Amino acid sequence: MTVFSKIVAGEIPSYKVAEDDRYYAFLDINPLQWGHTLVIPKQETDYIFDLDDRTLADMQVFAKKVAMAIKAAIPCRKVGQAVLGLEVPHAHIHLVPLTSEGDMDFHKKISDPDPDKMKETAAMIAEQFEKE
Ligand code: AMP
Repeated sequence: MTVFSKIVAGEIPSYKVAEDDRYYAFLDINPLQWGHTLVIPKQETDYIFDLDDRTLADMQVFAKKVAMAIKAAIPCRKVGQAVLGLEVPHAHIHLVPLTSEGDMDFHKKISDPDPDKMKETAAMIAEQFEKE
């Protein structure tokens, strides 16, 4: 079971942003920016491009809704999207609020993010998601 499947199962905590029957969105624990969110399929597959077409396409549509909620909740110019998958073997899309190109630098993370601010950030995005 991947660490992300454990999050979906509620075995380890996460800063949840959104969920439906097939997808789950939560804050990255080492965010590049406040509001940096991961979108995952509940189905456990390592490599995103091994997902079947339908699961991948619907995941992108779910990620779009999450991105719109991030944009509404967090001051930014756009929400950027990236796929790495080098660390956790469970397909995921990174959504990062951007003001400039350098905001998507995976070597520059917020150090020791305040848990209260993480909780607050997740709640703000979740509230926007519910409005859509
Ligand atoms: P990558 O697989 O290269 O896309 O990186 C995995 C991402 O997952 C990193 O940005 C980590 O900070 C993030 N991550 C790892 N474990 C957790 C967790 N338990 N909760 C939230 N984010 C996590």
